[in-house]
Amino acid sequence: MCQACLVKAVNCEATPESKKWIKDSLQQKGYTLGCQWVPDTDVEVALPTVEEFSVSTSIRSLDKLNSSVIRLVLNVMSKDVMFHYYPGQYVSLINPEGIARSYSVANNYEQDQCLEFHISDTAHGTFTNWLFNKALVGDILHMRGPSGDCYYHNSGAEDFPIIMAGTGTGLAPLYAILVDALGKEHQGEISLFHGGRTSDHLYYSKQIEKLKENHPNLHYFPCVKEDKGKTKIDNLQIGSVEDVINDNIDTGTLSRTRVFLCGAPDFVHGMRKQIFLKGANSSNIYCDPFLEHSVAATGGTN
Ligand SMILES: Cc1cc2nc3c(=O)[nH]c(=O)nc-3n(C[C@H](O)[C@H](O)[C@H](O)COP(=O)(O)OP(=O)(O)OC[C@H]3O[C@@H](n4cnc5c(N)ncnc54)[C@H](O)[C@@H]3O)c2cc1C
Repeated sequence: MCQACLVKAVNCEATPESKKWIKDSLQQKGYTLGCQWVPDTDVEVALPTVEEFSVSTSIRSLDKLNSSVIRLVLNVMSKDVMFHYYPGQYVSLINPEGIARSYSVANNYEQDQCLEFHISDTAHGTFTNWLFNKALVGDILHMRGPSGDCYYHNSGAEDFPIIMAGTGTGLAPLYAILVDALGKEHQGEISLFHGGRTSDHLYYSKQIEKLKENHPNLHYFPCVKEDKGKTKIDNLQIGSVEDVINDNIDTGTLSRTRVFLCGAPDFVHGMRKQIFLKGANSSNIYCDPFLEHSVAATGGTN
């Protein structure tokens, strides 16, 4: 899923099963997923070359969105090599120490000419320890991607309802999808559910409230289990995101509702099942569980 373990088969062929998850263009260059390939003889592999398909970026800014989330903004160094992505998809970021992790893009590069990520501090995490303690403006990061199917698409200009739900930095892809859908004048009702530990963790609440001013079809449900934070947020819901969704969804329209679920894997998998059982169509449910590297790519070296 995260493709952090991508390797190139040298003088040998990887198994079709190990290649089927990646783009044809990469397969043709000999790339495969290390975590899916169990060779039955010694093989020679090479790590992906930066020149072949990574985009070089540099850190434009690093600022805290709350006590445990950093907003990382990257400049793309050569615009000619920047790939197209849909807001909400994720990329692999590779830091100067060679550590690769998946992160969802929170904005639209084509509009903003920069890339924004919301990254939460992970206790003893390799990439996040570097980001929170060592990274500096100007540092070079390489980027591969894009991947994932959590993004807004509506070629028929339909007015289907949209439910978006996430916990913590699960808001990053949801915010990108939201801004994209509103920018494309989506006419259906859009309900955004965001869960945090306290109101202080519900970053971007002001930005979302601002979007609501011009878009009466946007409904925002900030959720906390207990109201211990200092930040005052209108319409703060006390309860788990799951309970708040249950209390506020219209089951009558669920079969034609698009559902986007992002963030903690337990939340995403649990909610996917719950919303499907309530009547959502499984082909309309799009999920990005933020799996940790050890789960997402067991064969990776970093
Ligand atoms: C599709 C996708 C999109 C994502 N998008 C985002 C996003 O937008 N924002 C975001 O914040 N995150 C996102 N993630 C999660 C992100 O990719 C990383 O998993 C996360 O930032 C942690 O990375 P890390 O290198 O800091 O931690 P890692 O080093 O990978 O560690 C992960 C966990 O393992 C534990 N661990 C590490 N080494 C050991 C050890 N030797 N023994 C025991 N335990 C150990 C750590 O304590 C930590 O809890 C996404 C993940 C996926 C798959």
